[in-house]
Amino acid sequence: MPYVKTGGLADVAGALPVALTELGVRVKLFMPLYDRIRVFDHGFVHADDLGECTTEIGGETIPFHVWYGHLPGSDVEVHLIDCPRYFHRGSIYTESPDEVRRFVLLQRAAFHVMQRYNWAPDVIHANDWQAGLMPSLLRHAFSWDRLFQGTASVLSIHNIGYQGWTSPHLAYESGLPGHMVAPGGPYESNGALSCLKAGISEADMVSTVSPTYAQEIQTPRFGEGLDDLLRQRAGDLRGILNGIDTKAWDPANDPLVPHAFSATKLTGKALNRTALLSEFGLSAPDEVPVFGIVSRLASQKGFDMLSAVLDDVLRRADFRLVVLGSGDPGLEGWFRHMTRLYADRIAVHIGYDEGLSHRIEAGSDVFLMPSHYEPCGLNQMYSMRYGTLPLVHHTGGLADTVVDLDADPKRGNGFSFWDARPPVLADTMIRAVDSFADRKRWQAAMRRGMKTDFSWEHAARAYMDLYSEAIGRHRQ
Ligand code: ADP
Repeated sequence: MPYVKTGGLADVAGALPVALTELGVRVKLFMPLYDRIRVFDHGFVHADDLGECTTEIGGETIPFHVWYGHLPGSDVEVHLIDCPRYFHRGSIYTESPDEVRRFVLLQRAAFHVMQRYNWAPDVIHANDWQAGLMPSLLRHAFSWDRLFQGTASVLSIHNIGYQGWTSPHLAYESGLPGHMVAPGGPYESNGALSCLKAGISEADMVSTVSPTYAQEIQTPRFGEGLDDLLRQRAGDLRGILNGIDTKAWDPANDPLVPHAFSATKLTGKALNRTALLSEFGLSAPDEVPVFGIVSRLASQKGFDMLSAVLDDVLRRADFRLVVLGSGDPGLEGWFRHMTRLYADRIAVHIGYDEGLSHRIEAGSDVFLMPSHYEPCGLNQMYSMRYGTLPLVHHTGGLADTVVDLDADPKRGNGFSFWDARPPVLADTMIRAVDSFADRKRWQAAMRRGMKTDFSWEHAARAYMDLYSEAIGRHRQ
């Protein structure tokens, strides 16, 4: 997403519509006009033909405006919903009590804009809880309008840990039938309205961002209370792996990385490694591997396991570790503490830095991603493209992309462990360090990863099939 980003969803929202357009689908994107989006820099124009629009939430009339533009270099039409009272908050997501209401406004506004233009799509594709009420609004609040008679809906789950829980009252205020959120109702979860649950209940088809995560969320361990419902809807649930932006992440042509390289010309990779170590104030002989981390520092990402064993692994094997991340203050503090204990082996940059994330992918030998759960994950795919072997917990999209080199020497492109326990992570790190000694085998694994097709085209075709299925279900 060229306008704003906090994580993986932004990459999807920016790339999938473009890939769909290239396959002949006409896509219109609706999103909030956050205060950090510079409308004029991105060529947006105010939709004068609409003027001031309004919607109602709980009897209150809320005015908004619309800005219109295109995703860069594409025909994807973007509508930005402009309502400073809700979207000028300094950050994209907030912890305010009206957080869910902000996105009710976005969703109701999208319907009003479609009505004003007398235009209805074949499919509404809603992403995560922020758009989770779209299928419900379509089925109830706006069902009186014959314009939407032929419109089917799809809900995509990018992370089931975030559901948009709020007071049940908001369902009623949004124009939805109150009984849906009564105890045991299809929108209710622990006495609250769960926007994601409402979406899963009402959408014609449901998808998530990898085949393995689609299976996992049907179990109590990963389902966050929605596993029962997802098992009921198993026949309508698909897992489609995200693609990556192969132009922005191209080792042969990456302005953020000092030395270009490719599967057939790996010398640049070694130069990037030296440059990365020196950027972090470290050095290492050629035979000592460099581990890299780029991540939100959140409990999901499994660094609790790393913190339990890193001392032990450092005693047992020689390697370097470079880290870029920010988030949980406890984890930030622990990483800083480790750089003081092991100043010549570990270096950390706390913050968000796009250029550095590319240089870590390009200069590391192993990319560490021990996530407890990972709906899709992008960094393991970036790593493979940059000849860096990912070391991952076998879960979600990591399980669908990383093949363990020891378990399957012919197809292996990284290292993975099945049992999410600290000693197992430690043994896997040792295994990676030991494997690094066999350069021929290692480089063959690098090349396999670098040649893998992670482009969006493949995913876009799968989404087109999903849309067809949704239209079929809707007609029934
Ligand atoms: P999630 O969406 O759970 O954060 P993903 O792996 O799907 O995880 O996507 C994370 C995205 O954010 C990737 O593009 C990654 O490179 C980027 N990223 C995460 N932390 C940082 C950081 N500190 N600096 C730069 N980029 C980061």
